[in-house]
Amino acid sequence: MNWEEFRAWGRRAADWAADYHAGLRNRPVRAQVAPGAVLSALPDAPPEGAEAMQAIFDDFEQTLMPGMTHWQHPRFFAYFPANAAPVSVLAEYFVSAIAAQCMLWQTSPAATELETRVCDWMRQAIGLPDGFTGVIQDSASSATLCAVLTMRERALEWQGNRAGLSGQPRLRVYCSAEVHTSVDRAIWIAGLGEENLVRIPTQGATRAMDAEALRAAIAADRAAGHLPAGIIACTGGTSAGASDDIAAVMDVAEAEGLYTHVDAAWAGSAMICPEFRSLWAGVERADSVVMNPHKWLGAQFDCTTHFLRNPDDLVRTLAIQPEYLKTHGADGVVNYSEWSVPLGRRFRALKLWFLIRAHGLEGLREMIRNHVTWAQDLAARLEATEGFEIVTQPMLSLFTFRHLGAEELDAHNQDLLNRINDDGRIYLTQTRIDGAFVIRFQAGAFTATAEDVAMAYDVITELAGT
Ligand SMILES: *Cc1c(COP(=O)(O)O)cnc(C)c1O
Repeated sequence: MNWEEFRAWGRRAADWAADYHAGLRNRPVRAQVAPGAVLSALPDAPPEGAEAMQAIFDDFEQTLMPGMTHWQHPRFFAYFPANAAPVSVLAEYFVSAIAAQCMLWQTSPAATELETRVCDWMRQAIGLPDGFTGVIQDSASSATLCAVLTMRERALEWQGNRAGLSGQPRLRVYCSAEVHTSVDRAIWIAGLGEENLVRIPTQGATRAMDAEALRAAIAADRAAGHLPAGIIACTGGTSAGASDDIAAVMDVAEAEGLYTHVDAAWAGSAMICPEFRSLWAGVERADSVVMNPHKWLGAQFDCTTHFLRNPDDLVRTLAIQPEYLKTHGADGVVNYSEWSVPLGRRFRALKLWFLIRAHGLEGLREMIRNHVTWAQDLAARLEATEGFEIVTQPMLSLFTFRHLGAEELDAHNQDLLNRINDDGRIYLTQTRIDGAFVIRFQAGAFTATAEDVAMAYDVITELAGT
């Protein structure tokens, strides 16, 4: 394809995208294909000769599209949202047309400086004080890895990267059992070993880590000759929205001199609404905070904002400067590749800039508030319906429930969930709460309406036979 052919296909692609979105409500939310069906429809060997774009496009529509789960479907109530506002799709189109590598200031000064600006917009939007500096990472998993590496280096007085970990005391990191698996991965990759991730018991309806148990675990580790390095707290855990008492965690961290990271990958988007900020009170004392505009807010994947109280610690951990990356004569500029694990960087700031400007914070707040209200309404309706139990009450727009219609509750709810997702009108996922299989509901799709959430009630109660 040359750029003249691109012109025509680009127009078709825009029409296709708008039609696709207009027709989403008529598609089943979760792909309804059997495992292997798509694979077996694809040729075993690559083509030797060029194929016509029309043929490629036809296969995309006919072979691949039936195998897609529609994350932008208004009745996607599974996992967490991965919203892509139309304006952010447009921004990504420009980004991929320019296709710049934005690793250093000089490899695209505008990309770096826009990133500085929009990160500061996000910082203000979520109510973090102006001592925090932001960077856009590819994912919350990467931000958490960065935080764990920084904890490690800081605890080892910046010798870990050089000397390795052998011969060092055991480094210890603390979190609750409710944190995302990206924390386990970060601990593995940083070479700390899962045995050194200390799980602090949780308590209360918010499933927050017990600060006294945290203090005791650190004291016991010090007595055993281990080296406490940091604490990872969460606001809005993935399973059921567990949220630590950040202020209580910070009291311990400050007394112990430990580095702190707060994972608010999903719930952080809600902090653009001041009334929800009590959920993470104390966050202004953290060293590192992550939230994903690529989840609820509508900046399509990938766009993670990572805020640091002292970015020097992160840069000291990750910066590497061979001659070919030096920017002679341009001192005082920020090279964001020194703030993240990969060297290459996409121009991610553009979609956040487009999004915030096109919707305004007020427009985004209205979406979040609607989702929270609708989820609470649905939970209340289900709770009032014979045979349903709300297992965890709504944390923002997320709650869990089960149906009490059989002896074997876990199997019964697994079966109900399968029937709901095979039906296709809505899509839900599951989790376990204190060992019990429960169904998770979250409202968060960019285009969801109150009617879409009401349909969830109809589908759930109809298929449960109530
Ligand atoms: C989604 C999620 C993550 C992982 O986010 P990625 O950007 O996909 O790495 C981490 N923590 C929490 C609480 C999440 O909800």
